[in-house]
Amino acid sequence: MLIRNSSPDPAGGAPDWPPIHLPEHVVSVIGTLRGAGHQAYVVGGVIRDALLGAPTEPVMDVATSALPEEVQRLFPRTHPVGLEHGTVGVRADDGTVEVTTFRADVETFGRKARVRFGNDLREDLARRDFTINALAFDPETRELIDPFGGLSDLAARVLRTVGDARRRFAEDYLRILRGARFAARFDLEVPDDVRDAMRESAEGTRSLSGERVRDELMKTLAQAERPSAAFRLLRETGVLEEILPELEAAFGVEQNRWHPDDVGEHTLLVVDAVPRRHSFLRLVALLHDLGKPAAKTWDPARQDYVFRGHDEIGARMARTILERLRFPRRDIERAAGLVRAHMDLFPMESGDAAVRRWLQRVGEENVRDLFRLHVADWAGNRAKPQPARELRALYRRAREVAAARGALKVADLAIGGDELRSLGLPPGPRYREILSALLQRVIDDPSLNQRETLLREARLLAGPVAGAPLSPDGR
Ligand code: ATP
Ligand code: MG
Repeated sequence: MLIRNSSPDPAGGAPDWPPIHLPEHVVSVIGTLRGAGHQAYVVGGVIRDALLGAPTEPVMDVATSALPEEVQRLFPRTHPVGLEHGTVGVRADDGTVEVTTFRADVETFGRKARVRFGNDLREDLARRDFTINALAFDPETRELIDPFGGLSDLAARVLRTVGDARRRFAEDYLRILRGARFAARFDLEVPDDVRDAMRESAEGTRSLSGERVRDELMKTLAQAERPSAAFRLLRETGVLEEILPELEAAFGVEQNRWHPDDVGEHTLLVVDAVPRRHSFLRLVALLHDLGKPAAKTWDPARQDYVFRGHDEIGARMARTILERLRFPRRDIERAAGLVRAHMDLFPMESGDAAVRRWLQRVGEENVRDLFRLHVADWAGNRAKPQPARELRALYRRAREVAAARGALKVADLAIGGDELRSLGLPPGPRYREILSALLQRVIDDPSLNQRETLLREARLLAGPVAGAPLSPDGR
């Protein structure tokens, strides 16, 4: 089906679509390919996003009948993106275009699909997962090529697969996760047959690599205004149980008089409450209370359930989950640290020393994130009014104390290993012990953080040292 996009009402009765504007460099890449006798179109999610007025990605996708070698010959500046999939990156002055040779399936079995290069746009579009992603655009004629009804699905906000949903999911189970992401991101209705197919194919998602699930999870958190819609769909179709059983286990775990929602529902509310641009913190929110099911105990004194230690348990679980999903080490440490610290907040009436000890415990670099997490955690509790003002006051206090630049780490001390050596103390684990002890004193009283004072303290802590040179003051 060809639809001229320049007309105000291309889908006949469907809402007006904005005209598709493409950056000049894409149009020029397509011009070059066509000039050499090849077919070339802008394809996929870029067109979907342009029609929805959603912000488009910086990298445009072009599909062409030209083989990868020909693409490399035609453009002076190219780099291999995925030559085995037929994708060549073409660098133009004001952007990069990913040019992919038309593909056609010969035979598909999970990810081990045998693919050959083709020369037919329709065949290429038929390999794509959802109708809203199986769109192509011809910038010369301004025609939208829409063989599977993607435009009307987009207008009706429906998620439909290209062809039989069960088959398409079995070819690549990641499509189920992608579907949940698109449904949440574009607020799409998921028809019963697609939902049923997701449910019947759920077990297959277990075989997905950690990396692919990770990337899809992060895209969901970064793109959907309310990622909870995606998780609800994954849960309802049994997919969550396969890819994130720890979150599934949090549903149905009732809390106590402070929480109207069970742990799972509360978790989703907190994820939604973290602003979209802080997608990593949304991941932390997803993990922050997962220790609760294991920590839940009855407290007879309070006559209620308590979750003592759920922060520690949760931090360990966060590590396990993020390792399984192949997150980089640095991300794992950061997330686990935030989960561990998410219950740790100093009382407003604390003295500076107590605030400094808190800063040392949670890490000064985590303070902003922790407060954002606290704000979301409160917003995700429908029983309690959000004490935003108190949290802001605590945050200000933490920042003031941190800005006063008292020492928080051994490295901030006015003396270090060199000075200990000058006292005649042989290098060894004692250095660490002495410096840590000095740090605790300095955290209590920052005025002690001076070279002479600390040397004196260190000498006392080190005790008599054989062969120690006489100290400057003759003691
Ligand atoms: P986004 O870029 O927002 O993640 P997208 O739909 O653009 O979403 P990409 O990964 O950029 O996803 O892929 C571009 C296009 O390639 C998609 O629109 C779709 O047509 C096709 N595609 C990507 N992944 C798959 C898949 N797993 N199965 C089938 N088609 C896919
Ligand atoms: Mg894309």
